[in-house]
Amino acid sequence: MIKRFEWGIFRYLTFGRILNAALVLTSYQISRLIRRPVVWGGPWSVSLEPTNHCNLKCPECPSGLGELTRPLGLVRPDAFKLYAGSLKKHAFYVQLFFQGEPFVNTYLPELIRIAHQSRLYVAISTNGILLTPDRIEALLKDPPDKLIFSIDGLDEETYRNYRIGGTFSAAFSGLSEIMKHKKAGRLPHTFVEFQFIVMKQNEHQIPEVLKLGKRLGVNKVTLKTMQVYSTASAEYFLPQNEKYRRYSLDASGLRIKGTFKNDCFALWRSAVITWDGNAVPCCFDKDARFVFGNVSQTPFLTLWKNSAWQTFRQDLMMDRSRLEMCRNCTEGVRINIV
Ligand code: SF4
Repeated sequence: MIKRFEWGIFRYLTFGRILNAALVLTSYQISRLIRRPVVWGGPWSVSLEPTNHCNLKCPECPSGLGELTRPLGLVRPDAFKLYAGSLKKHAFYVQLFFQGEPFVNTYLPELIRIAHQSRLYVAISTNGILLTPDRIEALLKDPPDKLIFSIDGLDEETYRNYRIGGTFSAAFSGLSEIMKHKKAGRLPHTFVEFQFIVMKQNEHQIPEVLKLGKRLGVNKVTLKTMQVYSTASAEYFLPQNEKYRRYSLDASGLRIKGTFKNDCFALWRSAVITWDGNAVPCCFDKDARFVFGNVSQTPFLTLWKNSAWQTFRQDLMMDRSRLEMCRNCTEGVRINIV
């Protein structure tokens, strides 16, 4: 298995950001001890959603299926500047993805540049299909620090089983083109990850995926377990090999393996901002059901400690199982998700 560390992150650490991380860790431990949320500092990692539009229709994705009830759109550079600027004191890691395909937003190269001006490490997860040679040229001017390619099949039939509307040839061509530039030294700092969601329909290709990752020279190959929402989907998609399942499935239904604690470190270390500026707790809140305010109107750190966010943390510490999305979440559970 190819698995290297993202050393590039260290280039973005400053004394203030390290001190912030120490405050986050300390306040989280105090909160666990007294069973009340004490929040110091700000999250060190934030997802900023470039767009919630997608070019594919993957069957277990609310964005691809058109099931999101929140408005569809894309962030423009001016608004993004405000979002990134409000995070730079405490955060060093920005995930330029949430729902949707980031490269649908044609401002993406400019968004990366703005994030870099705020000294933020930029990670992007893509299906790779829109990474045509022209777009890659635009990206090379100020490349992201990390590119994750989600490709879940090594031939057209397997690939199209889940990535509805896409083709393996287009996705693979995006990844190969990037690796060509990386080998030529044009992406010296970009960490490339090949991510493969393991399903019943593709698990036979795992040995080939590992060989291909090695041949391409990617920095990491990730075999990811799949998130599903119903017993029917579990029966259709979950692989035979238990090692690649995050759920147990029996007569009593579908459950995350392992035991939950009434706890969630993600609510101290990270946050998500949707394309239109809404601050939501985590990447499991795909339809933004828990909005704590909008960063276009209120500074992020004010929202981070407001009563709505604190009540959410407190409720979770009382009983995590009351929240439906938290029951289908692997945070803090010791099981294999990647
Ligand atoms: S779904 Fe719940 S437990 Fe999971 S990260 Fe989000 S808030 Fe935390």
